[in-house]
Amino acid sequence: MIPSVLPTYARAPLTFVKGEGSWLIEADGRRFLDLGAGIAVNALGHAHPALVKALTDQAQALWHTSNLYHIPQQQALADKLVEATFADTVFFTNSGTESCELAVKMTRKHFFEAGQPERVEIITFEGSFHGRSSAGISAAGSEKMTKGFGPLLPGFVHLPWNDHDALTAAITDKTAAILIEPVQGEGGIRPLPDQCLKGLRDLCDEHGLLLILDEVQCGMGRTGRLFAHEWAGIEPDIMMVAKGIGGGFPLGAVLATEHAASGMTAGTHGSTYGGNPLGCAVGCAVMDHVADPAFLAQVNRTAGLLRQGLEGLVASHPEVFDSVRGTGLMLGLKCKAPNTDVLTAAYDALLITVPAADNVLRLLPPLTISEEEVAEALKRLDTAARQVSAA
Ligand SMILES: *Cc1c(COP(=O)(O)O)cnc(C)c1O
Repeated sequence: MIPSVLPTYARAPLTFVKGEGSWLIEADGRRFLDLGAGIAVNALGHAHPALVKALTDQAQALWHTSNLYHIPQQQALADKLVEATFADTVFFTNSGTESCELAVKMTRKHFFEAGQPERVEIITFEGSFHGRSSAGISAAGSEKMTKGFGPLLPGFVHLPWNDHDALTAAITDKTAAILIEPVQGEGGIRPLPDQCLKGLRDLCDEHGLLLILDEVQCGMGRTGRLFAHEWAGIEPDIMMVAKGIGGGFPLGAVLATEHAASGMTAGTHGSTYGGNPLGCAVGCAVMDHVADPAFLAQVNRTAGLLRQGLEGLVASHPEVFDSVRGTGLMLGLKCKAPNTDVLTAAYDALLITVPAADNVLRLLPPLTISEEEVAEALKRLDTAARQVSAA
């Protein structure tokens, strides 16, 4: 008989009942150190007092009105995002995949209104992940996600990762945009080198294409800058955001320049919940922390410590680990042993990590993780690695 919850997830035998900062407490009382942060969502850790206050204050005032009316918390969060980024305008969604939907619609509408309706194609890359909606899986195009769900949304051109010749050959008069994650998350923590991101920007400028960045996982301070593309010194035309922006409240956003968003006039897109008072009150509190240069400086310090420790760990367990990859607090351990064995051994050592493709174990701690907690996490990873070697 089918379970009452649709069985689409392979869940670990763990049930968490409480969270405190970087810690998750299991139903049996065990305290796990959380290097997963709900897949890069709990940017300020669990039960951060500022987020609890923002949520409960708003809950007592007003939960939801719909976008038929003005929403001051939404306006405030949009103003903060516009102030802190390349963007001129913001649309709020409830998830990353909804942000992908709008990025695709906005791109096509832009060229349609500009009198180039034939420009519908969006170039994407192998190993990417843009969510599980029909546009999201069509954009990523992997067999694993798309099999049996056809017909897929047409208009995506899938290219290998890191193949410049394939890229230039793929651009035609039908091309509208290039869509890419500055750091692939699900694909195995693969950062795009800064010079490649610059190269993509140049290519888009040369051919009049829009550059769409999916910063759902790598954005909101995760790499040590507010958004990952800042490291390369370039700006996108459209950016997808979600995960960290709500700190655990379901919230996403599409940020865009006035030029890219030019087709999105009244009535062209909408969402019942997107940008609702509760989500945006929390989002404002998250932004106030994460956009603070002192906060980002601390992220870079703890990221440096974690990275250094991981390099040492790889050196002392060469039979378990191959290498460290990633940037900021978006790090991956490329494993030699099956990453799921390391994941399970880490559970035994009371440490939460997240698997990714390419036999990588992801480390995505809350951005608020302390230096002591980083040291403790490294100790627990060492215990896990010993257990895997001994098996
Ligand atoms: C998680 C993720 C998404 C999808 O977000 P959902 O909120 O699960 O819909 C899209 N893109 C990237 C890069 C992601 O990591």
